[in-house]
Amino acid sequence: MKVFVTGGAGYIGTHTLLQLLAAGHELCVFDNFSNASPVALTRVRQLSNRDFAQVEGDIRDAGALHRALADFAPDAVIHFAGLKAVGESNEKPLLYYENNVTGSVNLLAAMDAAGCRRIVFSSSATVYGEAQYLPFDEDHPIAPTNPYGRTKAMVEGVIADWTKATPNASAVLLRYFNPVGAHESGRIGEDPRDIPNNLMPFVAQVAVGRREKLSIFGDDYDTRDGTGERDYIHVVDLAAAHLAALAYSARATGCEAINVGTGQSITVKELVAAYEAACGHAISAYIAPRRSGDVASSYAATAKAEQLLKWRAELNVNDMCASSWLWQSDNPNGYPIDVSARRR
Ligand code: NAD
Ligand code: UDP
Repeated sequence: MKVFVTGGAGYIGTHTLLQLLAAGHELCVFDNFSNASPVALTRVRQLSNRDFAQVEGDIRDAGALHRALADFAPDAVIHFAGLKAVGESNEKPLLYYENNVTGSVNLLAAMDAAGCRRIVFSSSATVYGEAQYLPFDEDHPIAPTNPYGRTKAMVEGVIADWTKATPNASAVLLRYFNPVGAHESGRIGEDPRDIPNNLMPFVAQVAVGRREKLSIFGDDYDTRDGTGERDYIHVVDLAAAHLAALAYSARATGCEAINVGTGQSITVKELVAAYEAACGHAISAYIAPRRSGDVASSYAATAKAEQLLKWRAELNVNDMCASSWLWQSDNPNGYPIDVSARRR
């Protein structure tokens, strides 16, 4: 199958590319490298021993998208491209609406022009907002609490409307919980450009000595040990969910939102302990005040993914930490800078 992958150079994109290539799909990656290194794509080629088309372009550039889709004529699109930092979205909401919402509208219009009717979209559990009950199932009310989450909820709505108006269209909205970990080779992984906002990359950078200590944001939540609990999902399992969603979209029309998580919650302290076991030394941490906007607990109901996608997570927290540590210790400063990798 020919698959057009926006944002394919990013963290989740690169892990998914490897599995798509292993399954024999023909790919075109469309990325502006605003939050990714071209070296990541070089490594995907090396690891897979396969090649694919690569277009440096911006989803806000409707003309560039139209040309790329018309040239490649894909059977399906996986749409990872987007900005994802909650804090930045509060400071620059218009940038987020333009990038994530306008960019997605451009993409659907270009798909229409190219006659492509299948899309798998990177949504987020953040669309649920404050939990009214747990685990979050897909019928939980949608009430995001920040501009980033609102862009995801809006794009879900846009895609649902597009699906209704487009004969035989098929869309899968994957609501990721907390993606972590790295490929077992340690050659690709998460490479945040600034100070990491998320727990796992921060822990990884403390473990490798790039940062002094972890702030644990609150230990007075109503959880097992007082620290926040989340549903961490190994990025390799998450990548597999995209292949399952592609397969599902070939046999079903319409639009489905589907959680991608393990259904298990892990607290901050539990994750730190698992990382200490993986890296073999203590991780310096202290208890800081709660981070504003944080919820105590978030984890997924997984029945819909199992039923529709025939997919379930297989890797555990030790796999997540071990793979993250391999990536972080082999690449303490992330991907190297190599401008030649941009020119293809
Ligand atoms: P990432 O930043 O590593 O990857 C996103 C990719 O999109 C990057 O390669 C970036 O360069 C590219 N991109 C961004 N804006 C673009 C634009 N205007 N035009 C072309 N390319 C553009 O992030 P990720 O963690 O791999 O996330 C992928 C998707 O999954 C995002 O849409 C994100 O919102 C969503 N998501 C991520 C998480 C998470 O915790 N990582 C959780 C839920 C949802
Ligand atoms: N967290 C923390 N220190 C950090 C980053 C995160 O204690 O430096 C906590 C955070 O309060 C939450 C959990 O780790 O309970 C997961 O946070 P993350 O930002 O990774 O994911 P999200 O809150 O978006 O689900």
